Amino acid sequence: MSSNALNPTKTVASVCPYCGVGCGMLLETDGKKILKVSGDKNHPTNFGRLCTKGQTSAQALRDSGRMEAAFVRPDRTAQSVQTPMGDAIKTTAKRLKAILDEHGPDALSFYVSGQMSIESQYLVNKLAKG
Ligand code: SF4
Repeated sequence: MSSNALNPTKTVASVCPYCGVGCGMLLETDGKKILKVSGDKNHPTNFGRLCTKGQTSAQALRDSGRMEAAFVRPDRTAQSVQTPMGDAIKTTAKRLKAILDEHGPDALSFYVSGQMSIESQYLVNKLAKG
């Protein structure tokens, strides 16, 4: 990818967002989006190699299609409604606490996958341990 004076590219060392192997990668970015991903030859996990998922992760990182705001359903059958993040977190905590109080800890479970981003795995593990 080319760069220009307004959006010079820079390379940032990071870790693949997919599985738990933790391959090192270099992200070429213009400061707004990731332009290119390549394996980090100096990373001790993969020495520059990336599997197909890692090699194609730039598209997922750029156009993830993920929601960019919180949504809450007033009840199970209702349409989800965009909600300020703080309110969504409070509502979620209140609902989880109600389930815990009424049915005990075995009523709660989380689906956690190595396919989640590292940040998502960190957050769900913090929540589950709490
Ligand atoms: S490049 Fe492949 S093996 Fe390495 S962390 Fe990413 S998904 Fe896992």
